[in-house]
Amino acid sequence: MTTDNHDKVVAGTWSGALTPPDSIPDTADVVIVGGGIVGVSTAWFLARQGVNVVLCEKGYIAGEQSGRNWGWVRQQGRDPRELPMMIESIRIFSELENEIGESVGFEKGGCLFTANTEKDMQGFHDWMETAKEYELDTRVVDATVLSGLVEGATPNWHGAMYTASDGRAEPHKTTPAIARAAVRAGATILTSCAVRGIESTAGTVSSVVTEHGPIRTSVVLCAAGAWTSLFCRSMGISVPQLKVRGTVARTAPAEKILNGNIFDDRIGIRRRDDGGYTVAHGSVLDHGITPSTFRFAFKFLPALMQEIKVLRLRFGKDFVDELTMPSTWSLDELSPFEQNRVLNPEPSKRVLNGIRRNLYEVFPRLAGVEIVEAWAGMVETSPDVVPMIGEVGDVKGFHIATGFSGHGFGIGPGAGKALAAMLTGSDSSFDLEPFRLSRFFDGSPIRPMTTV
Ligand SMILES: Cc1cc2nc3c(=O)[nH]c(=O)nc-3n(C[C@H](O)[C@H](O)[C@H](O)COP(=O)(O)OP(=O)(O)OC[C@H]3O[C@@H](n4cnc5c(N)ncnc54)[C@H](O)[C@@H]3O)c2cc1C
Repeated sequence: MTTDNHDKVVAGTWSGALTPPDSIPDTADVVIVGGGIVGVSTAWFLARQGVNVVLCEKGYIAGEQSGRNWGWVRQQGRDPRELPMMIESIRIFSELENEIGESVGFEKGGCLFTANTEKDMQGFHDWMETAKEYELDTRVVDATVLSGLVEGATPNWHGAMYTASDGRAEPHKTTPAIARAAVRAGATILTSCAVRGIESTAGTVSSVVTEHGPIRTSVVLCAAGAWTSLFCRSMGISVPQLKVRGTVARTAPAEKILNGNIFDDRIGIRRRDDGGYTVAHGSVLDHGITPSTFRFAFKFLPALMQEIKVLRLRFGKDFVDELTMPSTWSLDELSPFEQNRVLNPEPSKRVLNGIRRNLYEVFPRLAGVEIVEAWAGMVETSPDVVPMIGEVGDVKGFHIATGFSGHGFGIGPGAGKALAAMLTGSDSSFDLEPFRLSRFFDGSPIRPMTTV
């Protein structure tokens, strides 16, 4: 694998000098914590409505999950609760490049989940009920049709679930491009600007305290990805959230064997806009055990049981890191957020070897193609693998949007639109009630309907 700097096409998103802002605004209508796709898309929609919005990112825009993901933009296989936002997201992605005047590599190349058994096929047929309800173009295809959609694969697949209108985009381009569009629309976006916490007056948010000083506001959206649970814990709010490490690789440009995305139990692969492929392992969920694993074990039990076959548990650095991290701090001292500018896990060598082996075995026409870049990201997830959205805690005006799991990139722009409507109280066609945090505390059954 080449590791020269010029091969940091993806890692360039979270490398390089970080310049703190010269100054910060005194006041804002809305402050967003976190410059991932969720925060940035919300800022874009708010700014276009004329809202004075400030977004604070402790590190780089898209420096964590939003720049490190596989780039799949898919409707198929989702929990039905996510579909209205996801369908809107596909629409937004389709018009995005025209609207913002920048390439994000979006293409409706289609999405395939393959079946290795008849039981897998039955699962796909069952999901067709949901597809019909939401009028998706999803269909179950047999092995013959499948061989026309992806060329030269070796497994004897029984067939696949296929959605032609699903697509892909380049994560390292998408969120930074939306951030630039938000700025053009009037948003203020501050990088190297960690938010330490919130101050309130008479039970309502009165300001956000950043490492560079306070910003007066009465509305806050915490879209802090993997850090949301810690941020909320410091305010006395419990947000059940666990993390799994995903190792990802990028190949050099290679022969075109498919245009979109395909997921098999050995490999997840999609075509890139530079003619290469983004590749990952199909069946590894790599969880470093932490104190949160024990804290939230009971709530996550259904998800853990569902993923038991692919779960790889590690005990070590992650545990110590979380154990030694403070859970409360004074707002005039360094917080864990500026001490951890970028969550940048090492890719797993073992998983990388598996990725390379599976790539060459499943797609012999790609055998020998060079892996030119590898990275890892921490996927954060909720107990039912669906986001937690809404106003939370005792302080009025404090909202969260987190727990998007391994599928938040695709839904990000749709979520941003729904969140902007939520924060302004404007009409929204999205029902955000199913995403309320309280579902994990009010005795509602916790049933994951999709995988992490
Ligand atoms: C390996 C991998 C593969 C994935 N594949 C896909 C896929 O193919 N398709 C898909 O749809 N999704 C995928 N996902 C999931 C997707 O990337 C995430 O769901 C999505 O990016 C979450 O966006 P976000 O804005 O909520 O969080 P993030 O992108 O994590 O952004 C949160 C930001 O908040 C900042 N922050 C945190 N605390 C503070 C603070 N106190 N002050 C200031 N800033 C703060 C962080 O620095 C971070 O930049 C994948 C994820 C990973 C890691």
